[in-house]
Amino acid sequence: MTAAVRTVYPAADPVPLVFDSPHSGSIYPEDFRHAIDRMTLRRSEDAHVDELFAHAVQEGAVLVHALFPRCYIDPNRNRDDLDLSMIDGVWTEPVNPSFKTLQRGVGLIWKDMKAFGPIYNGKLTVSDIWHRINTCWSPYHDALQGALDRLHQEHGRVLHVNCHSMASMGDRTTEDGEVPRPDFVIGDRDGQTCAPALTATIVETLRGLGYSVAVNDPYKGFELVRRHGRPDEGRHSIQIEINRRLYMEEATLSKVEGFLDLERNLAVLTRALSKLAKDTAALSLTVDRTLEGSA
Ligand SMILES: [Zn+2]
Repeated sequence: MTAAVRTVYPAADPVPLVFDSPHSGSIYPEDFRHAIDRMTLRRSEDAHVDELFAHAVQEGAVLVHALFPRCYIDPNRNRDDLDLSMIDGVWTEPVNPSFKTLQRGVGLIWKDMKAFGPIYNGKLTVSDIWHRINTCWSPYHDALQGALDRLHQEHGRVLHVNCHSMASMGDRTTEDGEVPRPDFVIGDRDGQTCAPALTATIVETLRGLGYSVAVNDPYKGFELVRRHGRPDEGRHSIQIEINRRLYMEEATLSKVEGFLDLERNLAVLTRALSKLAKDTAALSLTVDRTLEGSA
């Protein structure tokens, strides 16, 4: 495997706006050794999300996206979010597995492919885990952190949009159960990771385009927005989940006719965000001061 992450730089006047797609990678490393069949495993990809946001650089934004698959190692999990029962050998680093890891097997290194069952026949070695951290997880975090820090230093603020897609229905292993999902779910960890103006701009723009949009239900945002969202420091981070039925067939990952419409509508959203990123007043004045002291 050559590179694990790709950073695409602005093709227009730069604005302090970064999109990242941690889950759209589809280059499967040779040492993966999964037992479950590849096509089932590929249903975990947020397929084509990098392509859906490729236009962002035309609006002056940076796009960071993973090339490796999220089920190999997941950049949207903290490095200590590990299930020790997967490892053959002694792991000497501290661990702090999240509920997603313990209840659903979808931690830093995925154990189960949700309702489809276990991914491996046996255990992974300590060096397997370190290899995945060093070749994929760390380079991804370094690339995203670097892009955000550079823009923040230059502009005094930065907007980060963490881009995902979700299955059109929940299943028995997911937070929401077996129910159909809205077109978009926007997550700001209940208002903690960005100024209200960022959430409002996304929700209003998408609803104006005719989409159904839920906020923080069932997805509030996970590790990447938690890590980078510090609105009191001018670092605004938000998660977008796109319903896959809007742009692809979920069993085959093939694009459907709606793909181009969605792409065009996301470009409308990006222009609204690019405008917001230049509007210091909108972002600084509306930070919810009641959140101070709650962390
Ligand atoms: Zn995702």
